[in-house]
Amino acid sequence: MGRIFTPTESDFGTADSVVIGGGIVGTATAFWLSKVGLDVVLVEMRDGLSTLTTPASAECFRAQFTEPAMVALAKPSIEMFEHFAEVIGISGYSISIKQQGYLFLTDDAKTVTDLKESIDQLHKLGVTDSEYLDHDEILARFPFVSDSVLAANFRQRDGWLSCHETTQGFAKGCDARFFINTRATGIQTDAKGVCAVETNRGILQTRIVVNAAGPFAADIGRMVSLDLPLEPVRRQKVFIQTPVAIPQDAPFTIDVDNNSYWRPEPGGVIIGWVDPDEPVSKPSEKVHTDWEFPAITLEKVKRLTPFFEEIEKTVRQPHISTSAGYYVYTPDDQPLIGPVPEVPGFYVNCGYWAGVMLSPAAGKRIGDLVTAKLDPKDNPLRPSRFKEGLGKKGKTLMSH
Ligand SMILES: Cc1cc2nc3c(=O)[nH]c(=O)nc-3n(C[C@H](O)[C@H](O)[C@H](O)COP(=O)(O)OP(=O)(O)OC[C@H]3O[C@@H](n4cnc5c(N)ncnc54)[C@H](O)[C@@H]3O)c2cc1C
Repeated sequence: MGRIFTPTESDFGTADSVVIGGGIVGTATAFWLSKVGLDVVLVEMRDGLSTLTTPASAECFRAQFTEPAMVALAKPSIEMFEHFAEVIGISGYSISIKQQGYLFLTDDAKTVTDLKESIDQLHKLGVTDSEYLDHDEILARFPFVSDSVLAANFRQRDGWLSCHETTQGFAKGCDARFFINTRATGIQTDAKGVCAVETNRGILQTRIVVNAAGPFAADIGRMVSLDLPLEPVRRQKVFIQTPVAIPQDAPFTIDVDNNSYWRPEPGGVIIGWVDPDEPVSKPSEKVHTDWEFPAITLEKVKRLTPFFEEIEKTVRQPHISTSAGYYVYTPDDQPLIGPVPEVPGFYVNCGYWAGVMLSPAAGKRIGDLVTAKLDPKDNPLRPSRFKEGLGKKGKTLMSH
């Protein structure tokens, strides 16, 4: 069982691999590196795992991506979520998985064509259970949706889970050591490549370092003189506690035309909006929220889900809780996964705006690359793809 603790001097020494960052991505990476037989230490600067971006997320997952490389990560990740107890080897372990579906809605005739095209692409990519629904089918299945809707894409096996339990499960289900309150401050290299990670508590000698530092991954890259193409953008979401009856069996529901979303949550509802004008920012551990964000977002979600009008009229400030973190974008909006050729032994697993849902398969891929089970050239998300002239943006409906 993985141990999560604040290390003392005697805990430092050598490790086969060191993962920097204890969000869901780093923890899944440590899990898989441990499963391939490596002695793994993960260093996390905060006082626990899954305490920065990961808990700020809406905790959702979906296979409905139109980019092949994203589907190739999302599908096996969902299978792992579905059989999580088996994957981590802890019988009966629950991550509170809810497969209530992802519903992409539109009331704009121009977007209907995009939805139809994306269904064709999804089917080509093997996401054959994604369905195109017309107006009548939508209202028959989801009567709370506005009569103005024209079309939707829906997949029942998409849904959400508990990020906390998933991260803790990866940690408990492996033999890695998780050093909390331990900040990576530098990376040493020699003629062979990386050779040690310096921290505020001690030095770990290692030949493999994985950068899974979430919004701070560019800082870790700079420790080995790399300029990683990562752009953190603040994103917010709101939990509203409300007596208004929210259909608790509703899917994660997205208004494709204004980038807003909502889903049920016990005691109320989670709403969010991906603001296209939010600028790229310097990451911080204290991410501020905007006081007007809940009102703007309510205005957006009520467009295609009218019961939000009632919530808007009755909600009071103490029942609103806004949280924020970052989406980290790359030039093609897909993550950077794998070894960096310029610095032998240095791997990246970062650049996520959907890191929760992709973390199981992304972590496994690092294990496969480290053990040479997978050749870097067969990994479409290799960080060198932009220099190779690859890495073009796809047509995913919404950056969420
Ligand atoms: C509002 C919102 C909604 C979202 N909804 C979803 C969703 O529904 N589904 C989904 O898949 N994704 C969603 N995301 C995105 C998702 O939260 C992230 O992609 C994911 O959490 C990234 O995980 P991570 O482990 O890379 O990052 P983090 O959770 O940020 O973990 C990185 C860790 O690295 C540590 N670290 C950084 N620097 C150092 C250092 N020098 N030394 C030691 N430790 C260090 C940090 O303390 C942190 O704990 C959402 C994000 C937001 C903000």
